[in-house]
Amino acid sequence: MKIGLVNIPSKKIKGNKELLQAIKEFNDAERKRLALEAETGRPAGYVTTNYQIAKETRSGEVTREEFENQRKVLKALAETSKHLAIETKITTILERIAESVAKALGAQRANFWDFTADRKGAYIIAAYGMQSQYTLNSKKNPIALGTAWVGRAMTTGQAWSTSDLQKDPLLPKAWLSAAKKQNYRGLLCVPLEHGDEIIGGMCIYHKDEHEWQYFEYEVMTIVANQAATALMNARTFDTLEAERRKTTGIINSLQDGLVMYDNDDSIIIINPAARKLLQLEKLKLIGMNLTEETAGDNIALRNLLTIKNIQHTEYSTKEIEIKTSENITLEVTRVPVHDEKLQKIGVVQILHDTTEEREVQILKSNFVSVASHQIRTPLTGIRWAVDVLRSNEVGELTPAQQSLLEKVSVTTDHFAKLINDLLDVSRLDEGRMDYEFSVSDVTPIVQRVYHYLSPSASARSISFNFTPPKEPLRKVKIDIDKIDIAIQNIIDNAIKYSKPKVGKVDITIQVHGETLMIIVKDNGIGIPDNQKKFLFNKFFRADNAVRTVPNSSGLGLYIAKEIIEMHNGMIQFESTLGKGSTFMLQLPLTKILKSSKKKTTP
Ligand code: ADP
Repeated sequence: MKIGLVNIPSKKIKGNKELLQAIKEFNDAERKRLALEAETGRPAGYVTTNYQIAKETRSGEVTREEFENQRKVLKALAETSKHLAIETKITTILERIAESVAKALGAQRANFWDFTADRKGAYIIAAYGMQSQYTLNSKKNPIALGTAWVGRAMTTGQAWSTSDLQKDPLLPKAWLSAAKKQNYRGLLCVPLEHGDEIIGGMCIYHKDEHEWQYFEYEVMTIVANQAATALMNARTFDTLEAERRKTTGIINSLQDGLVMYDNDDSIIIINPAARKLLQLEKLKLIGMNLTEETAGDNIALRNLLTIKNIQHTEYSTKEIEIKTSENITLEVTRVPVHDEKLQKIGVVQILHDTTEEREVQILKSNFVSVASHQIRTPLTGIRWAVDVLRSNEVGELTPAQQSLLEKVSVTTDHFAKLINDLLDVSRLDEGRMDYEFSVSDVTPIVQRVYHYLSPSASARSISFNFTPPKEPLRKVKIDIDKIDIAIQNIIDNAIKYSKPKVGKVDITIQVHGETLMIIVKDNGIGIPDNQKKFLFNKFFRADNAVRTVPNSSGLGLYIAKEIIEMHNGMIQFESTLGKGSTFMLQLPLTKILKSSKKKTTP
């Protein structure tokens, strides 16, 4: 190939500093070569060129022999694509590609290069026809980019070649001995490109002088594209694999148990903590679709099945007792899992062992229960004595004594209510609240509570109304006494948290579909938005409530909620600070009652 000085004013190249620099270097070398030829009158023996130049100087005609040759090369190269499909290890893929292309082009060696982390150097990642020591050494001693043909290819994104490296003045002097030792002369390097990014380089080496043809540039470019795709796939795979390992690591080191089911209900993840908690260590569980049949008599699997079948809405938490070699209490949270397109791909259950917490809770609750019982007896005595004194049975009292006794009476009532609430809470917490269900009409219960609480509404001059339903309502399956307590707590709050004289409390009963709703609406102090989420917690009282009514236990809503939930119902509320609140007690009109951890007699 005969070429002259290069002057390429193409737009793409104008902005490409590295390429312009490389072309300048090339022109300098070419000038030297021409000078040498002129001086000696003989061909100088080397040609450095690049893709652009080779394209512009290629000979138009292809001879029959060249054509045959090219056909063979392309056939051999078709083989390379097969490796991409069969092999999975990227180094092996690159080695095979290197081998195929070297053999197809009659070269002795080929290799692939990657950038160092700072992208200032390059090192060999896979090779054919090279002693492994060179490849191994390369990572430790990368070459600086720009000093050689591969560096030029990797910085300019162009292919570069030399027909005889050992004679080429562009070769850094220090490298000559290595080139001689490794015995190569003809060298062609191309960049590996992925989209707009250069991700590496590929070189092919002839032991003899070799004038690179345009066809060879083309072949190398095609092969490099294939290799770049393979390399990118491998990198993506590695990244995903690293992510997967990280996620697995996190899941495996969780203290809580975690089980994930796919949409077909098969187990796809179960972490070591879940296996340990449920004594499932030795079983093969991944892919298992857990049913009555597949669980069989295996106690551990039956426990897992019980947990899987817990009826709970998504994002909710349920407590369950499980018998393994000992009794354990688990808090099970269910979370749906979605992919990036928000398609549901399964559900996760998180198992939190609350056995110890529960034991402590029972101890505390036992203490409260014993203490409350012990206080209740003397309290009954005090109330009796106060009542006797107030009735003047044991002598006339002065007005001052009467007034003092009134105060003692109110305080004793408060105290008695607190003790009763505490006893209810400890019964609820220990599951000792016994329920006796019957199919009943709710209206008379509300009516009774209304009458019972009317005096305290009048005492505060609050407008207090109950509008009974016009038609008889469908009955519900309830424990009358417990529902009475729940309704009382809600209405009592409405009166308590309404302003004297201007306060207004309205009670109605409505039916919506299969749900019966007892609605208690007030125009009282309302609930601050930031405290709404704590409302049903034991002992919780909002700031404004504490200011308005200093003495109250903060147990009423908790008790009401627990009772209503035992009836498969729920309590909802809406409230605006300073304007008022509406509490909705909902009970299902259906006959089915949920089973529960707690002792019930539905
Ligand atoms: P208590 O009334 O003894 O404080 P509850 O458990 O019945 O306890 O209620 C908890 C808290 O919920 C109350 O302290 C109050 O902050 C808020 N709350 C309940 N009902 C109402 C209501 N009708 N209006 C305003 N706040 C209310």
